[in-house]
Formats: sequence, C-alpha cells, structure tokens
Amino acid sequence: MRLLRPVECWRSSLSSAGAHKPSQCPKPENAVTVAVSSRVLFRTEREQKVFEQKGVEEYLRYQIEHETEPFAPGPAFPFVKALEAVNTRLRELYPQSEELFDIVLVTYNHAHVGIRLINTINHHNLFIERFCMTGGSSPIGYLKAWHTNLYLSADADKVREALAEGIAAATMFMPEKLTEVSETQLRVAFDGDAVLFSDESERIFKAHGLDKFFEHERDNEDILLDHGPLKGFLEALGKLQKKFYAKGQRLDCPIRTYLVTARSAASSGIRALKTLRAWGLEIDEALFLAGAPKGPMLEKIRPHIYFDDQMFHVEGAAEMGTVAAHVPYGIAQKYTKQKTSRMTAK
Ligand SMILES: [Mg+2]
Repeated sequence: MRLLRPVECWRSSLSSAGAHKPSQCPKPENAVTVAVSSRVLFRTEREQKVFEQKGVEEYLRYQIEHETEPFAPGPAFPFVKALEAVNTRLRELYPQSEELFDIVLVTYNHAHVGIRLINTINHHNLFIERFCMTGGSSPIGYLKAWHTNLYLSADADKVREALAEGIAAATMFMPEKLTEVSETQLRVAFDGDAVLFSDESERIFKAHGLDKFFEHERDNEDILLDHGPLKGFLEALGKLQKKFYAKGQRLDCPIRTYLVTARSAASSGIRALKTLRAWGLEIDEALFLAGAPKGPMLEKIRPHIYFDDQMFHVEGAAEMGTVAAHVPYGIAQKYTKQKTSRMTAK
C-alpha cells in the first residue's frame, strides 16, 4: 500500500461523539496491552475485496462513500468487549489503578479509513483510545514500544514477526458460526504444548510417536517445561485476577482461564501442572483430553478466544463455533504448512 500515509498514532476523540467519556489511558508498562488489527476486530471482507480487485484509489473512494456505515463485529469483537467488562469491574474496585486492559487498534490503513473506524468504534460503544495507523509498514516496533502483551491479527506473517520478537501473538479467523459468549466474564483458553509451554515435548511426539512421548514425559516429570509464546499473557491475566482475589472476589472473578490440552492426565499431565505451579500461575480449569477432539469441550467452555499452535485444532474449534486463534510457533508448523496456506485469514 505505497500510497498510504506514514505512521500515525493517536487517540480517537471519542468524547466528541458524546457516546461516552474517554478514560485516562494507562501507562503501557502498567497496563495489559492488547493490540488488535482492524481486520479482526471488524468485518472488512467486502472492503478487502474492493482493494484487491479495484486497487487503492477505488478502495479509498469506497471507504469515504461508506464512512458513516459502521463495520460489523469481527472475530476479536466479543473478546475486546469482555476486556472492557473486566476494566469496568477493575475501575470500580481500584479507581486510581492503571493496571487495566489497554486496547490498541492497529491498522495499515489511510487516515480516511480512520474516520470510518472511529465512527464504528463509537457506534459499538467501544472504549478504544489508541490507534496505530502504520500506513502499510510493520507495526512490530510500535507493539514493542507499547509493551504489548498480546497482538491479534489476520496477517499470519505479521504474527510470525511479532512472535520472533518475543511478543505473544496469534492469527484470527472468522468462524462460520459463533457460539454465544458471556458478556460479564472473560474466558480465555490455552493449549499447552507450543502455546503456554515450549514445543520441546511436541518435538519428541512428532519425531518418535506417542509411546516415546509418554515415556519422555514420565522420565522428565520433575523437570520444568520451558515457557511458550503465550505464557506471558496468562501471567498478565493472573496479575489482574489477583486484584479481584485481594478484594474477596475469587468466586466472582470476571476472568477465567482454561488449559485445554491433548495430553492425558495420568501419563503426561503432571509435568504440565508442575510447571504451571512452579511458575506461580494458576489456571482455573485444566482439561486433559488424551487426544479427544477439542471442539466439543470448547463448545461447553465458551471461551472468547482459544489459542492453539496446530491448525487442525483451530479448525476443529472453529467448526463448533469457538473463536480460535492460531499461534504459528514450534515444530507443528512444519506439519501444517499446507493447511495454513489453504485456510486464509478472513
Ligand atoms: Mg500444542
């Protein structure tokens, strides 16, 4: 997109719309910063098509003509809404604290499209105050400057780039059907190997099969697993959860976390649980599926987002209505390359 403007980052002037008052933006080092691309927060497939088929000038004309029409919610929308619900509760309990979720909207777009995005944000009553319009260039440097705790995008290359820089990141897709999710409790589900943990055990499984994997995990039961790309985000969620516990709201906590792993409890689960405990991370529910499909279990959990490194599980979850995000990290990518290229980000 060479015609686009250079980087612009600013806060949207939500107050001018009168929809709600913008609150003070927390300092990045205090907040849990979640950066979402406009293509996963909203549905922009039609506009993408105009851009691809008719070029940038037609695309910009189309966007200006439609700038009062809000975009429909995309796959990250319920997740962002849930983050805001948690913020509301945190502000009630800790009016002065900056330990909140801070959402940054990242877009490669031109400023003209920014107007439509701001209109959309106001239309949906979202509290997004930070915008990063990169004019087509990579947002990774900005993500680092913002101490980004999680980056969600439709662009798998950008996600890989972020992961390589040590930023928790995942690619999102639009599921055909969407399960209804809680509006008051944020639910986040994680796969274990190559998501919360490194892919070291997955490598044994891929190279030597299931029996060797079980043997390896039994032999190394007391050796902690190394951390994976999403560990830091679980840690950040835990930090906010503790603020509710400190006010006696453990049972009514608006954040709930889940481990949904193909490991089986008896043979290989113990190493995963010991690792989480040693890290000081509490996970609210741990489901060891022993190879059973994850989709039906996730359908019961109804998470706002589920992270997995294998497209097979992402597709299985999406088929049953769960918003699943792909973490393109570790040995499994070698085995799923073909599938990934087939399932393009929508
Ligand atoms: Mg995995």
